[in-house]
Amino acid sequence: MDFEYAPGHEQFRQEFRDWLVKHLPSELCLDDASDDRVASDRETFERRRMWQKEMHAAGWVGISWPKEYGGRGAGLIERVIWDEEYTAARAPVLPGNMGLNLVGPTLIHWGTDEQKRRYLPPILNADEVWCQGFSEPNAGSDLAGLQTRAVEDGDRFVVNGQKVWTSGAQFAHWILLLARTDATAPKHRGISAFLVDMATPGITVRPLVLATGHHHFNEVFFNDAAVPRANLLGPVNQGWKVSTTTLMHERHSAGGRSHVAQIARLVALARTVHQDGRPAWENPWIRQRLAQLAIDSEALKLTRLRSLTRQLRGEAPGPEGSVLKVFGSELGVRIGDVAGEVLGIHALVNEPSDAVPDAPRWFNRIVASRQYTISAGTSEIQRNIIAERVLGLPKD
Ligand SMILES: Cc1cc2nc3c(=O)[nH]c(=O)nc-3n(C[C@H](O)[C@H](O)[C@H](O)COP(=O)(O)OP(=O)(O)OC[C@H]3O[C@@H](n4cnc5c(N)ncnc54)[C@H](O)[C@@H]3O)c2cc1C
Repeated sequence: MDFEYAPGHEQFRQEFRDWLVKHLPSELCLDDASDDRVASDRETFERRRMWQKEMHAAGWVGISWPKEYGGRGAGLIERVIWDEEYTAARAPVLPGNMGLNLVGPTLIHWGTDEQKRRYLPPILNADEVWCQGFSEPNAGSDLAGLQTRAVEDGDRFVVNGQKVWTSGAQFAHWILLLARTDATAPKHRGISAFLVDMATPGITVRPLVLATGHHHFNEVFFNDAAVPRANLLGPVNQGWKVSTTTLMHERHSAGGRSHVAQIARLVALARTVHQDGRPAWENPWIRQRLAQLAIDSEALKLTRLRSLTRQLRGEAPGPEGSVLKVFGSELGVRIGDVAGEVLGIHALVNEPSDAVPDAPRWFNRIVASRQYTISAGTSEIQRNIIAERVLGLPKD
């Protein structure tokens, strides 16, 4: 493949880079771009909302959304460049991330014209932030086994049940909810999707705090919560198909992230942190581990480019698309593991110290990295998919 970008693409990159340099406030920049997908508190959340509004006003939000829905209608390459520049600037994940990447594209595919007019513009300008109400205590990998019920009652549905691991529900105005509308049908055919106002009486949000102390997830309880029939997304009992659209966009956006900057920071750390009285960098074993991360990261980049080339040629996704999620998320975990090896006993300290001034960043990185291979489909499930659908291996 041709590794050079066309002049028009380079111009797009420069334009976005210059805009970020001029407008991105340094206090919004992340310590570690990958680990703070949900704001740590409401004040940070509101600051990020203002940031999304500013970006939207300048035309930098929803760049791959079609123009007719308020996006920029840009192509795949621009989307990749946007991601690269945004990550390199260590800009914060947009608070409307879930709406922009998952709910919006699902609405564009399944929504009525009225729903698109009503819900899409506030996703772009961050007036309304969304969360994803799919997983339940007994339905994660086996999502179709979900038990939350929505019972038809005139022009509304009455919802009862519980969701879990709902990222950002504490800030969200709306939730894309999957609920069972036909308990007698085969499990994939009795589910419907709903657009639900989080202010609906009967909805309770309870925090789940991560090992890092960060409030990322929640449990969301529905107790006789009434949802208007007009808020059904797609046909009744076709929610599984709707969720497939959402999950396709979720998996597509997971795993493809570049790890280059993190590995560079880890190398810098190894040069300063001491083990047995000398810099960790002088330990050949550590250097080998860091070299392997750099190799893996390059392999991931090339696999991503191969996948991109196929998409640009209009070809069906190949095996490289499926391995991106597994390899990318497992590389994220390996970076956390090597950080632990470099830091040794310092890895347990979540306070800045003379030995490790940015200790909280590394503590967070090491402890939080386990989530990568679980969110957006676990590694085991991805391997099942690769085995069955890519390699064509028998199921038993
Ligand atoms: C950071 C993060 C953010 C998330 N955000 C959201 C969100 O916003 N909204 C939402 O709805 N959900 C969210 N989730 C939940 C996520 O989708 C689920 O955690 C995930 O699908 C796994 O489901 P589970 O936790 O119930 O684990 P389980 O499905 O119970 O799996 C437990 C273990 O068994 C393995 N396993 C299960 N079935 C099989 C099988 N058939 N073959 C082999 N191994 C198997 C799994 O791989 C895993 O190791 C989030 C999760 C994380 C970590």
